[in-house]
Amino acid sequence: SQSLKDKVALVTGGSRGIGAAIAKRLATDGASVAITYSKGADAAASVVSAIEKAGGKAIAIQADAANAEAVKASVEKTVATFGGIDVLVNNAGTAIPKKFEDTTLEEMDYMFAINVRGTLAATQAALKHMKSGGRIIMIGSCVGERTLTPGLVAYSATKGAVKMFTQGLTREVGARGITVNNVQPGPIDTDLNPAAGDWAVPQIAVTALNRYGHVDEVAALVAFVASPESSYITGANLTVDGGTNA
Ligand code: NDP
Repeated sequence: SQSLKDKVALVTGGSRGIGAAIAKRLATDGASVAITYSKGADAAASVVSAIEKAGGKAIAIQADAANAEAVKASVEKTVATFGGIDVLVNNAGTAIPKKFEDTTLEEMDYMFAINVRGTLAATQAALKHMKSGGRIIMIGSCVGERTLTPGLVAYSATKGAVKMFTQGLTREVGARGITVNNVQPGPIDTDLNPAAGDWAVPQIAVTALNRYGHVDEVAALVAFVASPESSYITGANLTVDGGTNA
């Protein structure tokens, strides 16, 4: 389908993992896509070339989510290149799994800077340009609502903040015809959370489907939320977690 024909999307952290899958899927649906990354220029370039090979339009922008000026500049660059911004996907995020009492304040600051502050900064910059029909989409986490395994205490707090940011913002931008939603993945096989290894065992155990999810399974939900068909959904926390939170 070409449900996003003539639309422009910015996906933060789009060079690998869930963000790369979202960028490719939105391009398949017809959007021109900008992605940001922090370190992986080669990975970002390969996402762009995959989209271009498939006949789409894409650019990669280096912008550390912890640097609000760089985040703002990435939004401006997207608008300057493609003529606007219709969809913002706040995907850039990270986790440092360890016991709360062993987590340093520096590690907590780092997670909050990327997962929360970066999301707020990108959203503020995008709202300057977004018109009616716009879509703000967060990539939160199923642990932003419920936590079933230890080791993710501070990370869960960042995703809980993303959840309430989503719900709060709907009240300020709804009258402009802009929706705000929070897509909450469960365990998804990426560099951040590989499906193989000791750390995966308890996560698989708490799913109902008894497996990790694939990045494309998250991208499919994001594509629906980004599309015009989702027009009456806002302020929703949409979980794609194989039944983890069931
Ligand atoms: P990955 O670590 O596999 O990929 C992260 C992506 O974000 C990369 O493209 C990376 O680019 C980019 N990125 C990382 N740090 C920054 C930064 N400071 N500024 C800009 N870009 C950055 O992560 P996932 O794909 O697994 O996770 C994506 C999102 O999904 C995160 O918000 C995560 O919290 C969330 N999530 C993931 C789950 C999972 O099980 N995988 C479960 C629930 C939520 P670069 O290499 O250049 O840094």
